[in-house]
Amino acid sequence: MPPIDRDRIVALDKARVWHPYTEMSRYRANVDPLVVVRASGSRLEDADGRSYLDANASWWTAVVGHGHPRLVEALRRQSEALPHVALAGIAHEKASELAEALCATAPPGLSHVFYSDNGAGSVEVAMKLALQYWFQNGRPERRRFVALEEGYHGDTLGATALGGVEVFRRPFAGALVDCDHVPAPWMEGGVEASIAALERVLDERAHEIAAVVLESMIQGSAGMEIIGAPFLRAARELCDRHDVFLVLDEVFAGYGRTGTMWACEHAGIAPDLLCTAKGFSGGVLPMAATLATERIFEGFLGEKERAFYYGHTFCGNPLGAAVALEVLRIFDEERVIERSKPKAERIAAAFEAMGELPAVTRTRSLGMIGALDLAGDEGYLAEAGWRVFAEARERGAYLRPLGNVVYVTPSLNIPDGDLEELLAIVRASVAAATGGAE
Ligand code: PMP
Repeated sequence: MPPIDRDRIVALDKARVWHPYTEMSRYRANVDPLVVVRASGSRLEDADGRSYLDANASWWTAVVGHGHPRLVEALRRQSEALPHVALAGIAHEKASELAEALCATAPPGLSHVFYSDNGAGSVEVAMKLALQYWFQNGRPERRRFVALEEGYHGDTLGATALGGVEVFRRPFAGALVDCDHVPAPWMEGGVEASIAALERVLDERAHEIAAVVLESMIQGSAGMEIIGAPFLRAARELCDRHDVFLVLDEVFAGYGRTGTMWACEHAGIAPDLLCTAKGFSGGVLPMAATLATERIFEGFLGEKERAFYYGHTFCGNPLGAAVALEVLRIFDEERVIERSKPKAERIAAAFEAMGELPAVTRTRSLGMIGALDLAGDEGYLAEAGWRVFAEARERGAYLRPLGNVVYVTPSLNIPDGDLEELLAIVRASVAAATGGAE
């Protein structure tokens, strides 16, 4: 392979590429980006041959590690046979087999699969399914949604309307679908106040509400804030009482991240619509799905105009479907979730212990997620986490923060040695960045 011209890549990047979630003048002036040339297991390798532990599994996607040989092989085989074909009126093996396998693993009652190609898309599909269901099944006045403060569901306009992170919503005020936001269980007032607020909204205006949309068990982008099972159970009960749909967004929390295949298993409930992406295709290809109940599916049968007029060009893409199917087989055959349990215990213990560090105000963990808050400014724009990021980069880990929240969400099958190294780097980096080198 010819050597990588790192400087040229960075120059082109800074001239042409508009990065997500990034103010570009600061980026151009101050950031020397990692130039990643390959990834394997839980590690990224840069253009200078340095290796970095991928603390967030590349935005929470690489659940079975980068470059898993079975995923590479599934992709190769599928690319030779059928890289793409439109799904409208055409069936193909991988979309069919994947839908069957997904429904077999899904929480009870979810029996139909609608494919899309990213997490926001899967949420958009759920929102439109809910709206159109009520539109054509006798309750057209149900046009609003309910979601949690500080929630995050993606960046399309629909998903932005559900989102509760103020800095992401602000520029779009006035252009968003109506959504009532209720406090999350981890906020002041706790779970009782949160349930009471949801109950109040539903008591007052359930007749106008299409669906309650929640991240399942944990709000990822909010800073790994745990919602918990009691709230999910209460939400299910309240939605049933008012005949409002419950949408669970498991884009982040699904696929074993919280210690169970689906996060809603912690609460013993099932949603009416379930959104999955990220780990769904193992971080290999953009691929997502929305699972629906029989009742919702049947609400679209009959006259021609009752069809769901929605479809992405690449929906059901055979490459993505082949890889996603292989992810499910790997989970099963390599017992990925079961074998992640001792790793999750290590994360929990290490983060709890980091609570002793003077600049750490709070720690928490759930499954293969560990998080801590740094003292000082809070929220997505806070800088403290970035100082830890810089220290971790020096030590060989990619540790992108969420504002003042430092967290790890590694691959579920991260080797034990890599996990220990990662946790040691997190600790040393927090200590160094906050003036207390150990
Ligand atoms: N829902 C949740 C819970 C997410 O965490 C994310 C992405 N972080 C999304 C939806 C959006 O997914 P995507 O970026 O693939 O559109």
